[in-house]
Amino acid sequence: MPGSGSRPGDGDGPRALVIGGGIGGLTAAVALHREGWQVTVLERAPAIEAVGAGLGLTPNSLRALDVIGLGDTVRSMRAWQAEGGLRTPSGRWLCRTSQDAAAARFGGPFVLLHRATLVSMLRSRLPEGALVTGADAAIADPGGADRPAVVRHGELEHEAELVVAADGVHSAARSALFPGAPAPRYAGFTAWRLVVPAPDVAYAPHETWGRGVLWGTQPLHDGRVYAYAAAAAPEGERAPDDEHAELRRRFGAWHDPVPAILDAAGPDDVLRNDVFEAAVPLPALHRGRVAVLGDAAHAMPPTLGQGGNQAVEDAIVLAHHAAPGADVPEALAAYTRDRLPRTSEVVRRAVRVGRLVTLTSAPVCALRDAAMAAMNRLAPHLALRALDGIADWSPPGHDGSVAARSAGTGTDGDGTEGARTDGTGAEGGPGSG
Ligand SMILES: Cc1cc2nc3c(=O)[nH]c(=O)nc-3n(C[C@H](O)[C@H](O)[C@H](O)COP(=O)(O)OP(=O)(O)OC[C@H]3O[C@@H](n4cnc5c(N)ncnc54)[C@H](O)[C@@H]3O)c2cc1C
Repeated sequence: MPGSGSRPGDGDGPRALVIGGGIGGLTAAVALHREGWQVTVLERAPAIEAVGAGLGLTPNSLRALDVIGLGDTVRSMRAWQAEGGLRTPSGRWLCRTSQDAAAARFGGPFVLLHRATLVSMLRSRLPEGALVTGADAAIADPGGADRPAVVRHGELEHEAELVVAADGVHSAARSALFPGAPAPRYAGFTAWRLVVPAPDVAYAPHETWGRGVLWGTQPLHDGRVYAYAAAAAPEGERAPDDEHAELRRRFGAWHDPVPAILDAAGPDDVLRNDVFEAAVPLPALHRGRVAVLGDAAHAMPPTLGQGGNQAVEDAIVLAHHAAPGADVPEALAAYTRDRLPRTSEVVRRAVRVGRLVTLTSAPVCALRDAAMAAMNRLAPHLALRALDGIADWSPPGHDGSVAARSAGTGTDGDGTEGARTDGTGAEGGPGSG
């Protein structure tokens, strides 16, 4: 075991170290702290709140947030939403759905908030000093049944009974723990995100699919608007001038409110990220005393809007198994058993929807659109059905009524027969992005 083994923080509880202060790492830190762990979060960035744009949370993660007392606070941030759905670039509706239908189907609303809002709420539930920013951390030893894990941070080595690796899609911790596992691969498309004041035109929340491109617009509770776009593009490609100009070139002639949103934005408002996916699941979500969670464990395209939601689920399930005093390696084996099959399936479905997003052939896209419209006529709320088996999840200990209903007779919350899809024919919709 390397190093002198310093232990960060004061107090008597068992020590847990979290690498990464994103949504997954912070949720895990709060949940473990509530269980009695003495938690320190090591975050590489100098600040954690100034990052990101809109984040769609679905009923599954809101129920997970209930476990740490945050679910209702987040639900109260639900923006009023009229009917929304999927459109074509000319504005034709392919299918529509509504918050009421989502709530009936999945047992609760969809909420869109700014990522920074959730980060700030989570941070405020951690004790003073529990978050250390500017701390580039690495696993020095994953530990085992008879020895603690060791995390290196600069010149320091810290021992911990439990380590949470939540260091995102390009996780160095994952590579150290599973050196033979392939890194997430480029998904074939890039994404833009922006948050702007609400435009002066009426609009319904929508996701609009073109040829190898899509655009989504969703209201935030504070009156602003979150818009996102995606396009099939070579990995690493960037606009020759700026990304706002690139969005104008690609989407400037689309239906309202897209041009008005572009008018309200400037170059500094637009974030661009290439999208990566973990095509091959990890062999386990833990090694020794280290649990891997969130994008570090199962990066997925945002086509079902589930990356952050699954990170929150991971964190709550991890804390459920890893009570202080529990045998940590055994608790982490239970965490892998619970989470690996589910997250692998969500990744698989998100990747399949991603394949539809990147279709560029005009006839194939016309067929896709016709098929979606026809399927929606046969069984309404097509966009919601993409989340069957995902958004109806409940955390351990929850009464499970929504999950039980969904898995039961096959009658959906909206009264239609429960033709659960596998994600090949239903996509996007509220919360996706
Ligand atoms: C365009 C787009 C739209 C999306 N929309 C949604 C949505 O609507 N809903 C949804 O649920 N998800 C969405 N996602 C996915 C979601 O953003 C991610 O899945 C989620 O942020 C993952 O959280 P995380 O905590 O695992 O990782 P991250 O948020 O990436 O956090 C990882 C943290 O670890 C830190 N870190 C990295 N290396 C180190 C190190 N060595 N030491 C210390 N710290 C380190 C990083 O600085 C970072 O703060 C979207 C993604 C994209 C690209």
